[in-house]
Amino acid sequence: MPTTQTEPEPARVPGHRAAPLPVVDPATGEAFDEAPDQQPDALDAVIDRSHRAWRDWRTDPALRSTALRAAADAVEVAGDDLARLLTREQGKPLTESHAEVARTAARLRYFADLAPRTRRIDDGRPVHSEVRWRSLGPVAAIVPWNFPLQLAAAKFAPALAAGNTVILKPSPHTPLATRLLGSVLTTVLPPDVLTVVTGREPLGARLTSHPGIRHVTFTGSVPTGRAVAGAAAASLARVTLELGGNDAAVLLDDVDVERIADRLFWAAFRNCGQVCMAVKRLYVPARLHDDVVEALAERATSVTVGPGLAPGTRLGPVNNAPQLARVTHLVRQALADGARAAAGGHRLTGPGYFFAPTILTDVPPDSPVVTQEQFGPVLPVLPYRTTDEAVDAANSTGMGLGGSVWGTDTDRAAEVAERLECGTAWINHHAELSLAQPFAGAKDSGVGVAGGPWGLYGNLRPFVVHRPREART
Ligand code: NAD
Repeated sequence: MPTTQTEPEPARVPGHRAAPLPVVDPATGEAFDEAPDQQPDALDAVIDRSHRAWRDWRTDPALRSTALRAAADAVEVAGDDLARLLTREQGKPLTESHAEVARTAARLRYFADLAPRTRRIDDGRPVHSEVRWRSLGPVAAIVPWNFPLQLAAAKFAPALAAGNTVILKPSPHTPLATRLLGSVLTTVLPPDVLTVVTGREPLGARLTSHPGIRHVTFTGSVPTGRAVAGAAAASLARVTLELGGNDAAVLLDDVDVERIADRLFWAAFRNCGQVCMAVKRLYVPARLHDDVVEALAERATSVTVGPGLAPGTRLGPVNNAPQLARVTHLVRQALADGARAAAGGHRLTGPGYFFAPTILTDVPPDSPVVTQEQFGPVLPVLPYRTTDEAVDAANSTGMGLGGSVWGTDTDRAAEVAERLECGTAWINHHAELSLAQPFAGAKDSGVGVAGGPWGLYGNLRPFVVHRPREART
């Protein structure tokens, strides 16, 4: 029985534009495949089918659990194909794509085993309330291009486990692995329970404002998040927004630089820095500044940069041309403002969207490379004199996704971490997440909570039954 749906090819469907969406391999800068560019008008039929599928899907938690476990198995069976395609369109090293596929399956398994708890509220009166949970209906899930599969699963796994159906829209830069994922899941989920739609804007905008959608769960940039919140206001759909970050890492004066240098480097440069909660600003005691810069620059200049499919590659290209242009612009501007590149600072020659891993020093604190999210292989290192000064600087942007404090005395580091205005604060590492923990940004970095049981409840509404405490006729 076919289950998860990907929308049919454009040529055969009137709801598609004539020109498909070209998909570029960022390692070459050349298009290597294409995806349907679905017209927003086609969403009416998609959402209608999704709504009809919801009527059955919401009724049987045991069936959902079994189906989600089967979905995890199916993802693993298709793991090699998914990982290769993901690397081809996203650029990340193949080992990281395999890890992303594994996390996609793990997420499905985690939510397959999670059920909401019915709760009885007894306040001493001769009545009690029983709080049960109901699904919402069709959910629109919209994700960016940095972790297309893993971020999609973070949305559709809890939504499906809760009994909702899902319409999933990947970024136009990375539609292919998601389409393949949709086809793989077709073998294990009922029809129309999960539908993948691909296309250029205004497809996402139309999806978020469609009256048939009951929850919009979005991951992406702050400006698009604002537009999504505004669009969803029309139908009063619930909104969950996981938005951008400009995470600071603060090194304390007792830090062992050599001991943490690898961890710190990868916390900033993994996935070519295209991680919402990568370290994007580094604050170091003035006394340690040169040692830290040297340790990071050494790693930045020696790391193997290349196509994600090439053996030995640790850092791939930036995913797309507009993002490469943005990173290039921010670095050039910082250099023009007096910053110095201790490593990198320029685009790599040759084909593809490669940018040299870059460590910047002497950066004016108000430079856009510090105050804005670079989302690329660039790390500004900023010296500080007092811990208060470092904490104030770390908290000085409008974003508040994550933050970290590094030091040998972990109790002291934890005390400083308490003062960071962010959703998750780490001690001596950064951006490590458990499936069971809540994920929510402070300030402009998000609205609502994803992850763990919180992610499940975010896809449910309470249904309260108020009844006499003793059985009465
Ligand atoms: P983006 O906001 O440009 O796009 C995200 C998604 O929204 C894409 O699928 C895009 O096609 C779609 N979209 C664009 N305009 C839309 C509209 N008007 N209505 C509805 N959908 C629309 O972001 P991006 O450049 O793809 O991704 C990078 C951003 O994502 C960074 O800011 C990064 O920090 C953020 N991000 C956040 C998290 C998190 O969990 N907080 C995780 C990963 C990435």
